[in-house]
Amino acid sequence: MEPIDPESVKTEFAKLVSTQKLVAILMLVLGFAFILSLFAASDLAILIFIALIVLGVYSNLRWRCPECGQWFGRRFFFLENCPRCGVELR
Ligand SMILES: [Zn+2]
Repeated sequence: MEPIDPESVKTEFAKLVSTQKLVAILMLVLGFAFILSLFAASDLAILIFIALIVLGVYSNLRWRCPECGQWFGRRFFFLENCPRCGVELR
């Protein structure tokens, strides 16, 4: 992997975090819609459930260090440095 300059790592990480937040909000809304559609006994519930899983997987796959590709796992937005390569993320 070609080296990235420290500033663009931070920019990439900031973009990643804002995407992750958007996805989280979307998942909350979908979760709410899922509960509503369950109460309404709507067929939409299955579609919404699938969308939730897809979004969850997508957000997990994206949650990586912009520098080395290390998966951050369950560490969330308070990350300051990559646990593997130590690059500054903020
Ligand atoms: Zn890293």
